[in-house]
Amino acid sequence: MICPALAKERPILLIKSGGPAALPEWQELFHQYSPQLDVHHWNDKDIPPERVEYVLVWQPQAGRLRGYPNLRAILSSAAGVDHILADPHLPAGIPIVRMVTQETRQRMAEFAAMACLMTQKSMHRIIAQQRAQHWEECLPQNNVGDTRVGIMGLGSLGAVTASYVQRLGFQTQGWSQSRKSIPDVRCYAGPQELSAFLGSTNILICLLPETAETRGIINRTLLQQLPGGASVINLARGSHLIAGDLLAALDSGHIASAWLDVVDEEPLPRNSPLWHHSAIIITPHSAASPSRREKAIHAASVIHAIEQGREAPHLYDPGRGY
Ligand code: NDP
Repeated sequence: MICPALAKERPILLIKSGGPAALPEWQELFHQYSPQLDVHHWNDKDIPPERVEYVLVWQPQAGRLRGYPNLRAILSSAAGVDHILADPHLPAGIPIVRMVTQETRQRMAEFAAMACLMTQKSMHRIIAQQRAQHWEECLPQNNVGDTRVGIMGLGSLGAVTASYVQRLGFQTQGWSQSRKSIPDVRCYAGPQELSAFLGSTNILICLLPETAETRGIINRTLLQQLPGGASVINLARGSHLIAGDLLAALDSGHIASAWLDVVDEEPLPRNSPLWHHSAIIITPHSAASPSRREKAIHAASVIHAIEQGREAPHLYDPGRGY
């Protein structure tokens, strides 16, 4: 049994992920993987702010994080940190740690593979036909081996996704800031190689982080550089896409279909035209969130590293913006 005097000294971790109902599960998991932590819900009013050393958060309210003077790290409950950086009052100099787990990689690769196969087999058309009770044979224009998947972003998720999709038989290529080397995946790098990458991509997958450079990157100019009949799969952030430009490209027939797992405003407003377009499949930001157990294991290892005086892994780099 922990004596109350010692328990008082335990570092406090506040959690804003999964709502108050998830707290007992979080406490149980952290008891297992990091028993020295005192785990509370983000909205627990009884916690003195100066005792909070760690937070694990998804979309923290603007201004809240600056209220913890002894904060040692901000752990994102997701791979992206845009939802934390959106806070204009974010305290400077506190490490921000991304949620990068093996489970996230696996789930993302599987989801992207499903989306590629469904896109290649024109499933958006088949689904629209079913809704209209319309029976018409719907054959793919070509084979998987003749279809080139291009992945924008070859980081922790994009690289694994590229290998996974390549093993399904798709010709596969990727584009990133710095050049990568991935077996059987053609790798492009930098803005100067974007056009060549786009010009030979039949199914474009976005797995970029949200940054000043990548916001709005899937716009009219980019879509025009894809070959006619190409498809777009956005699995990263809604802000990467200019939705009006996509709708125009779909309506003109230049782009055949789109799969949107993320949208600018989530949940997608009921009146959004994206809901009703027959060439769009919408999924509710479901591609690759890891289980709470995986998140707790990751968070525990990050906090352990910090407590030992080591640098936390998967740190957000303010210089790069991701
Ligand atoms: P990483 O930071 O590991 O990788 C980002 C990749 O994008 C890197 O290859 C990087 O290049 C590249 N990149 C960044 N900026 C540019 C640029 N301006 N031009 C070209 N390439 C660029 O991120 P993750 O793979 O972990 O995650 C990617 C995103 O996926 C997350 O930020 C998040 O938004 C989204 N996501 C979505 C989920 C969902 O359920 N839909 C779940 C999890 C994540 P380089 O390698 O050279 O640095």
